[in-house]
Amino acid sequence: MAIHSSVLELIGRTPIVKAQRLDTGVCELYLKLESQNPGGSIKDRIGLSMIEAAEKAGKIKPGDTLVEGTAGNTGIGLALVAQQKGYRLILVVPDKMSREKIFNLKAMGAQVVLTRSDVAKGHPDYYQDLAERIARETPGAYFINQFGNPDNPAAHEFGTGPEILEQMAEVGGADAIVFGCGSSGTMTGLSRCFAEKSPHTELVLADPVGSILAQYINEGTLSEKSGTWMVEGIGEDFLPVISDFARVRKAYAISDRESFLTARELLAKEGILGGSSTGTLLAAALRYCREQTVPKKVLTLVPDTGNKYLSKMYNDYWMLDNGFLEREPYGDLRDLIL
Ligand code: PMP
Repeated sequence: MAIHSSVLELIGRTPIVKAQRLDTGVCELYLKLESQNPGGSIKDRIGLSMIEAAEKAGKIKPGDTLVEGTAGNTGIGLALVAQQKGYRLILVVPDKMSREKIFNLKAMGAQVVLTRSDVAKGHPDYYQDLAERIARETPGAYFINQFGNPDNPAAHEFGTGPEILEQMAEVGGADAIVFGCGSSGTMTGLSRCFAEKSPHTELVLADPVGSILAQYINEGTLSEKSGTWMVEGIGEDFLPVISDFARVRKAYAISDRESFLTARELLAKEGILGGSSTGTLLAAALRYCREQTVPKKVLTLVPDTGNKYLSKMYNDYWMLDNGFLEREPYGDLRDLIL
């Protein structure tokens, strides 16, 4: 169909590109560009699924107020759907999130409440707890609650997963999928879909250093205290209610530095502008690929676009200031002139 009647019709059915210039060892690496969704991230899918399911269940109707705590991308997905369908939207966003996302949310008409990034679940200023309280104290408001909402993983079980199966069938199927976990919707939905439709596909988690999830998967233990990390949208300090880790056997913990440098490498080598979590997922996927001794077809996601991070990891000055790039000596100026 050449002409669509609404931007919401553009959510999903994202393309897959095979990496050509990255060092993938004996493996083939495929990237599903969730960055091509109209709001620029995979979270458009759940913005649509969670609002439409609540409408169908008679819980909300246009004109109502929706409230959510979000790292930004779910907010953009929700704002897109809320704006098109006529809902008021209040979003609680941790203040470490990129300015691009916050400006985008405000421009779409959402009310943004910024809160501290340095507090964990249980603290009254923690973004999800604060969102829940605002929903409770605002008459008639509906708390979207992506961390406990089954229509979040459902978007991936019945949307993202079947798309991957259909697209990867062209090359004989995926032997492994590498994903990150924020709300856990992607992981839980893909796990359910692949358990049923392609049980041989290995599920691999990419996790930021500081998050408790990689250790939980690799060692079966839950660390009481999480660290902090700068990559946005993935990594957790608790296990979300909707999370299902049962089929995930392997995890890689990736530093901020490796994530940012790998995202920059993706742009330099393949021309794909991914966000910070793309760097984490790709770094884990590359480590997985290079560890293999028999050729495998590996798929990972580009969960959001790097346009949201131009002032951060794509900004050399920001990278230098944060110690992720080293200042190069000027060397011989004649090299610049000749
Ligand atoms: N990457 C980015 C950039 C995100 O915003 C999110 C969602 N927080 C994810 C990955 C992880 O997705 P999920 O919430 O489905 O675990």
